[in-house]
Amino acid sequence: MNELELLAAVSRLYGADKNYVIAGGGNTSYKDDNKIRVKASGTSLATLQVGDLAILDREKLKVISEKKYSEDTNLREEQVKQDLAKATITKEKRPSVETSIHNVINYPFIVHLHPTIVNGLMCANDVVKKLHELFGKNAFLIPYTDPGYVLFKKIEEEIEEYRKQFNTHPQVIWLQNHGIFVGADTTEEIKNIYADILEKIKGNILSSIESPISETRFAFETEVSGNIINVLTEKSGGFVKITDSSLIQNIFYIKDGLKNVSKPFIPDQIVYCKSNYIFMDEEDENKLIEGLVTAYDSFLAKNAYAPKVIVIKGVGLVALGSSENDCAIITDVFEDAIKIAAISKSFGGPHPMTDEQIHFIENWEVENYRRKVATGQG
Ligand SMILES: [Zn+2]
Repeated sequence: MNELELLAAVSRLYGADKNYVIAGGGNTSYKDDNKIRVKASGTSLATLQVGDLAILDREKLKVISEKKYSEDTNLREEQVKQDLAKATITKEKRPSVETSIHNVINYPFIVHLHPTIVNGLMCANDVVKKLHELFGKNAFLIPYTDPGYVLFKKIEEEIEEYRKQFNTHPQVIWLQNHGIFVGADTTEEIKNIYADILEKIKGNILSSIESPISETRFAFETEVSGNIINVLTEKSGGFVKITDSSLIQNIFYIKDGLKNVSKPFIPDQIVYCKSNYIFMDEEDENKLIEGLVTAYDSFLAKNAYAPKVIVIKGVGLVALGSSENDCAIITDVFEDAIKIAAISKSFGGPHPMTDEQIHFIENWEVENYRRKVATGQG
């Protein structure tokens, strides 16, 4: 296999495994002195082929490092996007917005993922202390930064600092409340680094914590779930899917179970599940249905968007999406959040995104949507 086939193979390996990345998340790249090839936006790692890679001119990408952009967030991101497009050789394939980050990490192969176990540490209160304990004081952590150009500049500056201090390039970049970048000369080395990292974190999950890694999904079809689906399908006008598992039900029984999953941990969670969720604890079926309707309406009035996740004690996780596939992704992403909350307990407890950070992503989403509609790229 040549380098690009190796890149595609490693992308599919991790992309197909929900423990590493869900839906369209994560991205990978390969670069030589002149060109960088990166996963095109709108494609998924799980199915990535060499033909799905966007190709960019690295010399032209440098412009983004050097140029001064607008202070206005939306205007700035638009300007950066235009410069990214100018550097893109494959005009029909648009590169991911994270391409500039890949470009400044000084290794040919880069694999960026959001592994559940890594995020159990990255979304924990004691992230700094525990990361240094487990991976040494040179472990390279980027404190949470709004995604897009600001995150790229932050990483670029921090890499420069790291180089001055340690006289070497960081190979692993840990991103608080987001995930991880790993760079190497070969894809074998990348796999070894990921395996070592996961093993080490796993080995430090407290044994007193019930295994959050695997869960048994219950298959069921009851009258109450049928009624819930009918009521919510009518309310939402979309698709409704109920999934239940011991992992999901656990949040009603463990200490702070609901509180610990009431706010998003990473930006992707907001994209798929939004940042507020409904939790219902009602034994009586009639009261449950009534309560659901009331909760749905007051949620809508308070948040100005419809709920995507409703978790019901004794019933399961209700995903409200635009399609069956959307519901499946919502379920996976929220289950991932439940696991992150559980793992984080071994590292000082859960540390979700702040209201300000959440707000930035919500606005960004609205803007992106508006732009897509305006340009007919829906
Ligand atoms: Zn990411």
